[in-house]
Amino acid sequence: MRARTVTAKKAKIMTDTAPKTQPPQTQVPERPDPETQASVPVELGERSYDIKIASGLLHQAGEMIKDRLGQRKCAIITDENIAPLHLGKLQKSLEQAGLSHDVLILPPGEATKNFTPFANACETLLQMQIERGDLIIAFGGGVVGDFAGFAASILRRGMDFVQIPTTLLAQVDSSVGGKTGINTKQGKNLVGCFHQPRLVIIDTDVLHTLPQRELRAGYAEVVKYGLIDDPVFFAWLEEYGPRLLTGDEQARIYAIATSCRAKARIVALDEREGGVRALLNLGHTFGHALEAFAQYDGSLLHGEGISIGMVMAFELSEQLGYCQKDATSQVEAHFKSVGLPTRVTDLPHKPGPSASQLLATMAQDKKVVGGKLVFIMAHDIGESFVDKSVPMDALANYLEGQCCT
Ligand code: ADP
Ligand code: ZN
Repeated sequence: MRARTVTAKKAKIMTDTAPKTQPPQTQVPERPDPETQASVPVELGERSYDIKIASGLLHQAGEMIKDRLGQRKCAIITDENIAPLHLGKLQKSLEQAGLSHDVLILPPGEATKNFTPFANACETLLQMQIERGDLIIAFGGGVVGDFAGFAASILRRGMDFVQIPTTLLAQVDSSVGGKTGINTKQGKNLVGCFHQPRLVIIDTDVLHTLPQRELRAGYAEVVKYGLIDDPVFFAWLEEYGPRLLTGDEQARIYAIATSCRAKARIVALDEREGGVRALLNLGHTFGHALEAFAQYDGSLLHGEGISIGMVMAFELSEQLGYCQKDATSQVEAHFKSVGLPTRVTDLPHKPGPSASQLLATMAQDKKVVGGKLVFIMAHDIGESFVDKSVPMDALANYLEGQCCT
């Protein structure tokens, strides 16, 4: 039995630039927790709900919904890729529980998250005679989850909804925490609201049909939780992350549950992103600028953008004297080891973005407060903090060094 030693300062969320202290030494577990299922509570008072995680859970979805939310008429919202692969299982499970349902199948992809398709979908749902006490089921990746959650938040002045996420990214991030919305010409997710689901059902089996590239991109969000405040989890991922990607069920359940616990904890502290929830944006200011440059055409997935973005966040932290070069190298080595991009120059676009292009996009990002960019910086792996005072010239210099145009 081998056990590695890493530095750990688990569960300490840092929101300032306090000087670094020497963390205690902690053992990394040799094997994944022997969890074959997990239940993660999201504690939000009367809006509290559970995230259920297990292999094969889709078959129990109907019973779980009925047990918790009672006899409801359901409207499943999904997309054209997921429907032929997994919709039958969900429908059967609802039927077995005696829950009647309608289905709305959307075209896949980010382009669906726009006003016109959204308005059409709302009208279709109303034509289905959906009522306030009925239930919307978001069955898909982040696009379906954001779209269906937003529809649930406004139809009939607000309806209940359940998330059944089918991508790794949605399972560990977007299905938890209640952010819903659509895109506009001005940017992503600019119209939307917070509307918490009543239940999140995560069946790890659906990941078997997810393309490897999508799986890897979702994995970047998993790593993010280690980098924010859980160095033990990061060390675990260094050891078992590749196994998780190739299909180890136990490793998947452990990693998804750990990620959901981390997100649930942060969301419970700050439901509407007034403070610590911003830590979840580690790597995202850079990542969003890269995604905008790539024009959301599939050439750069969100997870790929934030993989590069997290390395950039560590490197800028290093240049500002917050962290050691070793931390950046370790983060970059891990992303590279699973085949994720880590550099602006890894983008498939030639020429790539210029520093001024990226800066201009960052200035439009919704994380701009009073003209200053809010960045998530790091003292070390697992020691991220919110920094509202990154000097613009340091940022510009850093970007000049990263962009080859
Ligand atoms: P994300 O969750 O990464 O935000 P999307 O909702 O756009 O992304 O899903 C990414 C792509 O994967 C879409 O084309 C979607 O139809 C497809 N997809 C989602 N879940 C699965 C699955 N379990 N198996 C196969 N394809 C899937
Ligand atoms: Zn993200």
